[in-house]
Amino acid sequence: MKSGLALLLKALAFAAHKHRDQRRKDRDSSPYINHPIALAKVLVNEGGVFDTNVLAAALLHDTVEDTATTRKQLQRSFGAKIAGIVAEVTDDKRHSKAKRKALQIRHAAAISPEAKLVKLADKICNVRDVASRPPAHWDRQRQREYFEWAKRVVDRMRGTNPKLEAAFDRAYAKRSRLA
Ligand code: NDP
Ligand code: ZN
Repeated sequence: MKSGLALLLKALAFAAHKHRDQRRKDRDSSPYINHPIALAKVLVNEGGVFDTNVLAAALLHDTVEDTATTRKQLQRSFGAKIAGIVAEVTDDKRHSKAKRKALQIRHAAAISPEAKLVKLADKICNVRDVASRPPAHWDRQRQREYFEWAKRVVDRMRGTNPKLEAAFDRAYAKRSRLA
């Protein structure tokens, strides 16, 4: 218990430092770290997930993709297990954005159960963000496209955590109300 909490605080501090100069894409440019924190909250409070490897990976999930962090660095600081989960949810930036979106759909079914939990929480948080604080300049059509793509990814991970899947479905059901 104690070591689990220490690990989570270490992961949170690491992610906060790495994302310190980044903002989300919403109109108010929210601090980026709010997003990994939101994933961990969703996993605990809505998914009943208490596996500290999964929670630490959620806090770290965008560090390799979006900051100058390497898998090796995560491995050294957090071990191979957590670094491996983060790697599974990290897009390969050598591909175009469109290709990365297609690959997420293709790969979602084959990743580990731990990585699926992180990815489910990521999609829940992002569709909620698109609904409540969308990227500036996204019109309704772009928002709807995001919802449809997220659903296609989530549909490939059904059977992982019914509570999280239901939370996604509730968020997805609000697409008709997009501004
Ligand atoms: P994305 O669709 O990749 O942007 C969404 C991502 O941005 C999320 O997955 C999330 O990723 C992050 N994000 C940051 N802030 C927010 C927020 N407030 N709300 C929701 N998500 C947020 O956009 P890109 O500009 O990178 O474009 C990628 C693809 O989008 C293109 O390849 C194309 O397929 C499509 N596109 C569609 C257009 C259209 O008009 N229909 C126009 C241009 C592109 P994370 O959790 O990783 O931070
Ligand atoms: Zn994310």
